[in-house]
Amino acid sequence: MRISVDHARCEGHGLCANQAPHVFGLDDDAEPTYRFDGADVPDEHQSAARTAVNVCPVAALRVLS
Ligand code: SF4
Repeated sequence: MRISVDHARCEGHGLCANQAPHVFGLDDDAEPTYRFDGADVPDEHQSAARTAVNVCPVAALRVLS
């Protein structure tokens, strides 16, 4: 499972980082950081990651596979 982050769409609400702190963070500029860029989300974090994708209010996150 991989996730794409549309940084142009993101408004820095931080809900993804709250929902899945092992997968997403926010940097000092309130830009989301995706901790598994270029890699699969580990199995134990996939459920939280999917929830984070669903709660993003501007649909900036997308499950790629
Ligand atoms: S929840 Fe969506 S809008 Fe908020 S920081 Fe994460 S990607 Fe950006």
